[in-house]
Amino acid sequence: MYPFALSRVDDLGKAITAHATDGQVAFIAGGTDLLGLMKDRATRPGRLLDINGLPDLAGIETLPDGGLRIGALARMSEVAADMAVRQRFPVIAESLLFAASGQLRNMASIGGNLMQRTRCAYFRDDDAPPCNKRSPGSGCSARHGLNRNHAIFGWSDACVATHPSDLAVALAALDAIVHVRGLAGERAISFVDFHHLPGNTPEHDTVLGRGDLIVAVEVPARAEGRASHYLKVRDRESYEFALVSVAAAVAVDGKYIRSARLAMGGVAHKPWRLAAAESALRGVPLDEADALSAAIAQSFADARPLAHNGFKVELAKRAALRRCKSREGASDHSRRADFAVRWTVEGDREGRLYGGHPARGCGARGHSP
Ligand SMILES: Cc1cc2nc3c(=O)[nH]c(=O)nc-3n(C[C@H](O)[C@H](O)[C@H](O)COP(=O)(O)OP(=O)(O)OC[C@H]3O[C@@H](n4cnc5c(N)ncnc54)[C@H](O)[C@@H]3O)c2cc1C
Ligand code: SF4
Repeated sequence: MYPFALSRVDDLGKAITAHATDGQVAFIAGGTDLLGLMKDRATRPGRLLDINGLPDLAGIETLPDGGLRIGALARMSEVAADMAVRQRFPVIAESLLFAASGQLRNMASIGGNLMQRTRCAYFRDDDAPPCNKRSPGSGCSARHGLNRNHAIFGWSDACVATHPSDLAVALAALDAIVHVRGLAGERAISFVDFHHLPGNTPEHDTVLGRGDLIVAVEVPARAEGRASHYLKVRDRESYEFALVSVAAAVAVDGKYIRSARLAMGGVAHKPWRLAAAESALRGVPLDEADALSAAIAQSFADARPLAHNGFKVELAKRAALRRCKSREGASDHSRRADFAVRWTVEGDREGRLYGGHPARGCGARGHSP
């Protein structure tokens, strides 16, 4: 680690001004991503501004219409344990519980979670191989390198990385709003617009600029909120980032889907909304697997897998199907069953779909937190 200065701030205006006027300043909340990036020399701020003392940014508030406002400094573990979150938007609690580890969730903030950077190994490699995100114009080592964990949607030749946040996938499905305070005051950013696709400027992950500080995330009341769940498929049961994940919020009339909200993680540079599938799922009976599969497949027409991640297309479709079909609550039991996706049952005994890695034991690709 290189030497850096650390100071604390307890005034929002001062924090914003310091960040806006000094390119060497970085906000630090839990530090669970930023310090790792600094150790890997993927970023080198000279001055860290500890924002944990800023007032009124850590609350979790229930809004009169049934929505939620979650402060940027609320910890992942606090939000996951909050009863209003668990009851009204289980998908949020589940996405948090399946992220990182207990210790990390105790430290990590909601704002920091949304701002965390990609887990592309080339980006985080302190030997600094060509990486346009880390060093614009240097090239993309993953494009024709090892890209098993990379994007199948929305990538560009400049960058094929995926966004790592689980929470972001849940918030994308719910059309959350990010409240940001900057030099010009507060503005509300629709969640689908918050993260960028890579295009020719993969160094920019979000729409935030200098002086912008996330103050809260608002989750509007949703008819589908209480029936929303998260499914995460990953390489091992202990803490690991998603190979693919699905946030699904489905409202039904009897056995027919009235409306569906679907977003995926692990497949693109930002949480990937399945808009075509959402339209096609309306009116489909929950117990007709072929009709559900056909509706979901509509969102995969523009999938563009890379050399090593073709398996993600089928894996993602199955995960979305599983999450739509299964409307039971997220008890530990059902969660374990869901997260397994049960390759042995669903026919991938040789691991053909799973990047050549045969499923182990029960085929589980998740964990119970
Ligand atoms: C081993 C490991 C496993 C993990 N597994 C997962 C996982 O499975 N799923 C998952 O989603 N995450 C995972 N994470 C990531 C973890 O969730 C993030 O590191 C954490 O959420 C970041 O929050 P923080 O408060 O520590 O952010 P910090 O590290 O303090 O900051 C991260 C970035 O956000 C900026 N920032 C912080 N707060 C604000 C704000 N209010 N406004 C604007 N910018 C801000 C900082 O300047 C910095 O650029 C893992 C991390 C580790 C180390
Ligand atoms: S995928 Fe993106 S982050 Fe990874 S090496 Fe390429 S440019 Fe860098």
